[in-house]
Amino acid sequence: MINTSKVNLVLDFLYFWNRPIRAGDLKTRLNFKHSTLNSILKRLEEQKLLVWEKYKEIQLTEKGKESAMHVSNHHFIIERFLKESLICSDEFAHNQALHLAGTFSCELIEEICKKLNISHNDFHDHFCDIRKYFSS
Ligand SMILES: [Zn+2]
Ligand SMILES: [Zn+2]
Repeated sequence: MINTSKVNLVLDFLYFWNRPIRAGDLKTRLNFKHSTLNSILKRLEEQKLLVWEKYKEIQLTEKGKESAMHVSNHHFIIERFLKESLICSDEFAHNQALHLAGTFSCELIEEICKKLNISHNDFHDHFCDIRKYFSS
């Protein structure tokens, strides 16, 4: 079983990074175990969300970029909702939101957007201090 929040973090990172990256660098930035990262990358590759040729860099496909932006946005919107409406701490909100991002339907996200008076389709990366969660 692959942990959803880890998959989402990989997608968030690749979208935010916005250029090719080597698996070793990605592993360091995310602070993941080699085996965990490998199985996530393989799954995303099977879903045609990224290309990863052996000994080459990893890169999101167009489909991967779209999907990463969408799931990242769910994360940011849920995070803002948890912080503003439920007054959760930044780190708790971030971790919960990462985990929930892929499980919340777009309809539910729409309801949250109405409440926050924002649009589902704008990119809301300013709701999360995402750099803080990657090592440099
Ligand atoms: Zn976050
Ligand atoms: Zn959505």
